[in-house]
Amino acid sequence: MRKQIIAGIDIGNSTTEIAIAEVNEERETNFLSQHLVPTTGVKGTVDNIKGISVCLKEAAAKAGIELSHIDCIRINDAVPVIGDLAMDLISETVITESSMIGHNPDTPGGAGLGVGVTILIDQLPEVQSTDSYIVVVPKAFDYEWVAHIINKAVTRGVSVKGAIVQKDDGTLIHNRLDKKIPIVDEVSMIEKVPLQKLAAVEVALPGHVIRMLSNPYGLATVFHLSPKETKQIAAVSKSLVGNRSAVVIRTPEGEIVERKIEAGSMSLIGETNQAKISINDGALAIMEAYKKIGELKDVQGETGTNVGGMLNGLRQDLADLTGQEMNDIYITDLLAVDAGIPTSISGAMAGELAMEQGVALASMVKTEKVSIQKVSNLLEEQLEIPVEVGGVEAEMAIIGALTTPGTERPIVILDMGGGSTDAATIDKKGNINSSHLAGAGDMVTLLINSELALQDLELAEKIKKYPLGKVLSLFHMQLEDGTIFFSETPFPPYTYGKVVIREEEGVTPLPIRTSLEKVRLIRRESKRKVFVTNALRALERVTPTRNIRHISFVVMLGGSALDFEIPQMISEELAKYSIVAGFANIRGSEGPRNAVATGLILSSKVEKGAIYG
Ligand code: ADP
Ligand code: MG
Repeated sequence: MRKQIIAGIDIGNSTTEIAIAEVNEERETNFLSQHLVPTTGVKGTVDNIKGISVCLKEAAAKAGIELSHIDCIRINDAVPVIGDLAMDLISETVITESSMIGHNPDTPGGAGLGVGVTILIDQLPEVQSTDSYIVVVPKAFDYEWVAHIINKAVTRGVSVKGAIVQKDDGTLIHNRLDKKIPIVDEVSMIEKVPLQKLAAVEVALPGHVIRMLSNPYGLATVFHLSPKETKQIAAVSKSLVGNRSAVVIRTPEGEIVERKIEAGSMSLIGETNQAKISINDGALAIMEAYKKIGELKDVQGETGTNVGGMLNGLRQDLADLTGQEMNDIYITDLLAVDAGIPTSISGAMAGELAMEQGVALASMVKTEKVSIQKVSNLLEEQLEIPVEVGGVEAEMAIIGALTTPGTERPIVILDMGGGSTDAATIDKKGNINSSHLAGAGDMVTLLINSELALQDLELAEKIKKYPLGKVLSLFHMQLEDGTIFFSETPFPPYTYGKVVIREEEGVTPLPIRTSLEKVRLIRRESKRKVFVTNALRALERVTPTRNIRHISFVVMLGGSALDFEIPQMISEELAKYSIVAGFANIRGSEGPRNAVATGLILSSKVEKGAIYG
């Protein structure tokens, strides 16, 4: 019997996926292999060919065939939309005079609260008064000497209540003191600590957090503040929440303000309506306004403001990517998410960061018809294999998804990729309804990166993909659910005491001091903010009645459906609407991957007159 070998190629924004199958005259399809590689270049451009060639060779090798044995290649008719991300601040804490230190040195000394006037350590022997003091110890001074000086002063009746130390000497000094005091160390910019000013030093016991200085009324008590002054200093207490140690110094002339940046407003231009929203109102308000304006035609940001800059940046990026004029770029979808952005506090003395309020925007633009035909022609020329552009991506994805055991039409698919979340439905008559929304896996990675102040997107991507653990000893690790895991082989010494990412092979320690619980919370919230929101939005759009309760089954596809918690989060949410949802298992073996490539092969039969479904 004559057989044809067909390759289906899905060029996605992030990933190029291929399936190879043998199709006989009876139209029986026997899948031989599949493979995937990262997409090279912008989807739908000739730059993709590099990735396609590599992927195709690998897939052919896996199938045990030569490239020349392939009779026909079918590529997806890529949707002409591209997404991009931007992020900016909407509030900022400004401390115009140095007046606080709030950080988590590994080993501060002692515990408790001490209040006194700041004085340099070498001035202490000259003190005559009965005031209380906080000693300031620059790095030039040796810990033995410092402890000796303090002990001597205390014996004389001088009241030393605490210490601020530049080096990592807190414990060393503390151990040598006759009368114990709280000590905050590792204060790098100690020269900025104002002298002869009233200061409070607080250190919590191991495993605890400070309580007095992180509470505005605690600060008011310590510094005898009026209600007006308490209001002013509230920003300081807020930024100290969660620290194990802190110093606050009262500089009467100093001013601490939390000011809302003029973040600007954005205009959502819809089919039926327009809405103007101030970014300061937050992501929720933006998304609420968006619901009321019908189909989105474009978004404009107020010029000269943060949001104006953000949207123009997006437009510029997309213009560069697509080779279109900036004026021809129209934003067709927008997802706004509240996000913490780490910002160094002006006036801080130990390089403290404050988590400022910010907003992250994912946007989607329609490009001019992408030149998939060009890609197709060039590919055919280079490989000398006939190449055809298959049907619409959404349709191919549905055909592929329907190979999941237990599914049937009508079906709703939710394709969760890197740049976009797409949904599509097909009704009993074969009519297809699809939508492409901004925001997916890449936005989750961006949020994790920002909220954990990592400045390392690769690491953020790993945090997204794998569960965490905390290495307790060379053989023990605490897992996310609190259970203790015993390892046969010792963990590497550099992971000891660290929160680690548990990859399939080996562990990666996180270079931050955030607790396992906090990292987990940020990871899960980032996923929820993007995917639960977008799943609901996407499904609503493809439901003719706009009421997703009319949907019975949802099948999740794409790279982000591989995530170890995103599908469960979505299933839980959709269960509230009595929708059954789960991730696909393409051809009963491929999980949520390869739907479009599989659909491209199966649909080649359709075009020869077969009936599917
Ligand atoms: P596209 O169809 O847009 O090319 P994909 O379907 O390949 O995109 O999805 C890419 C996204 O999937 C990326 O954001 C990536 O981080 C995410 N991803 C890939 N593998 C995993 C995984 N094992 N767990 C979680 N996310 C994953
Ligand atoms: Mg895809």
